[in-house]
Amino acid sequence: MVVRRGGGGLGLLQGEGPAALLLGPAGLRPLGGEAWDGQQAPASVPDFSGADAYRGRGTTELLRGLAVFRACSLRAFVERAEEMYSGARRLLGPRLADEAVRRTFFRHFCAGESSAQLASTLDWLREHGVGGIVNYHTEGGLDGGGEVADHQSAEERRRAVLEHNLGLILESIEMSARAGGHKFIAIKLTSMAQPSLLEKLSEALKAAKGAGGLQGGDVDPHQLLTCHMNAVRSGRRGMDALESWADAPTVREADRLLTSAGRVAEAAAVQGVRVLVDAEQTYLQPAVDYVTAQLQRAHNGTYAVLLNTYQAYLKDSAARLEADLLRCRSGGYTFGGKLVRGAYMVEERRRAEERAVPSPVHDTKRDTDGNYNRCARRLLREIGEGRRAEVVLATHNHDSVNGAVDLMRSMGMAPQATPVYFAQLMGMSDYLTFSLGHSGYKVLKCLPYGPVHELMPFLVRRAQENADVMGGVAKDVEMTWAEIRRRVPALLPHAPGHGWDRVQKA
Ligand SMILES: Cc1cc2nc3c(=O)[nH]c(=O)nc-3n(C[C@H](O)[C@H](O)[C@H](O)COP(=O)(O)OP(=O)(O)OC[C@H]3O[C@@H](n4cnc5c(N)ncnc54)[C@H](O)[C@@H]3O)c2cc1C
Repeated sequence: MVVRRGGGGLGLLQGEGPAALLLGPAGLRPLGGEAWDGQQAPASVPDFSGADAYRGRGTTELLRGLAVFRACSLRAFVERAEEMYSGARRLLGPRLADEAVRRTFFRHFCAGESSAQLASTLDWLREHGVGGIVNYHTEGGLDGGGEVADHQSAEERRRAVLEHNLGLILESIEMSARAGGHKFIAIKLTSMAQPSLLEKLSEALKAAKGAGGLQGGDVDPHQLLTCHMNAVRSGRRGMDALESWADAPTVREADRLLTSAGRVAEAAAVQGVRVLVDAEQTYLQPAVDYVTAQLQRAHNGTYAVLLNTYQAYLKDSAARLEADLLRCRSGGYTFGGKLVRGAYMVEERRRAEERAVPSPVHDTKRDTDGNYNRCARRLLREIGEGRRAEVVLATHNHDSVNGAVDLMRSMGMAPQATPVYFAQLMGMSDYLTFSLGHSGYKVLKCLPYGPVHELMPFLVRRAQENADVMGGVAKDVEMTWAEIRRRVPALLPHAPGHGWDRVQKA
């Protein structure tokens, strides 16, 4: 845990907890977004050659990583991974099949199955200057209903799943708070509500935008939806244009979601934990933005309890980012944003094609990269100009990370005193994560945890994504081989006090 005081520096513990909320804007030294005053020592230069990044990693771990990346590059394997896993569970039994996954993919991409394992991963990362984003993985399936007898029991089962997920999210806040350091969790609103609800609210927001446009162009669709829902709640007639999307039962469900999400935000605020709200597919995202904006208004004071996610592969992402910066600035609270490229490109394009509408995703990788880097620069400038903003640059892209580091250095930003975090997924781009951590930048690893069989869909998605973005993984493979080659002399049997026994111990 790095705690720095004085000189405009940000005491990470000192400023992030409940006291900040209780004392309010006037009572405390500025937190997060305001901590940088341009008076800090300039940033050190991270060494991305990999020479320094793998210390603390055993050779066996590196070899396992190579095998995992190799498997992820075999499309036939990746495409059939879920099928093979189910088959293995049937043939070998769940224990043996899970053990095979546990010793390979799970260890590489996940932080553990229990809170004790997660805590030890968090401790290990902290020793290397890296924070954790605690992410209890709960994926999909809420609209399916499963094999249930009648409508009522399907409904009850969904409710129970949502309650269960909420409990796990609240637990992950506690675990993050206990671990100390940079305290973050990630949530998906699709684990707190049925996707069909998010889809309906998203349609309502689109209708509100259309209706607002008719009224003179500049009416905020979020406000229109809130007014409509207030009317429905009090038994009055809302806006005709929204009625088919946000009728009384839908508003009741939306209220359940707002209450659950409010409980998460409140618990996080009290325990000084930041919440990253994951971005989802475009047909769900307007609702995610709506809920997140409501929570930010209520909880983002002098620092960002909630950070929304912006997917740079979307053509409208820069405009949405700008609108949100303005909203937070005019609302007098801290902007919080995580910038990613976006994970659902294939699905988005297919959906657009099926509906014969233009794809919302940039046409080329180059366009996405250009937009990502422009958005990152925009966010760094916002902070550099002294506005309240907190940013997580979540990417494995070397050029984007390097560009952001260069800009921070040229603006004289001290990495520990600036609310800019870098983030990578567990098991990916360690050469970036640990180089940043070792040279004092705020950097996070996203740490999925939970039972092996529950994380399997996530692992398969990870493997499929890796197959799609082999560029990034190729760099991981190259760096890992380079590190193994560096270690070879020490591993040879004739080297005194070294040899393969080291590999075994690692
Ligand atoms: C900590 C963390 C949190 C994340 N959270 C989310 C989240 O909440 N929501 C989400 O959607 N994703 C999330 N992601 C995943 C992210 O969106 C990317 O899929 C992933 O990180 C790969 O992008 P990159 O910037 O790391 O690297 P790169 O390998 O440089 O970029 C790959 C990405 O570029 C884009 N791309 C590739 N080919 C093309 C093309 N032909 N045309 C246009 N664009 C193209 C795609 O977005 C692809 O994923 C997260 C990633 C991290 C590290």
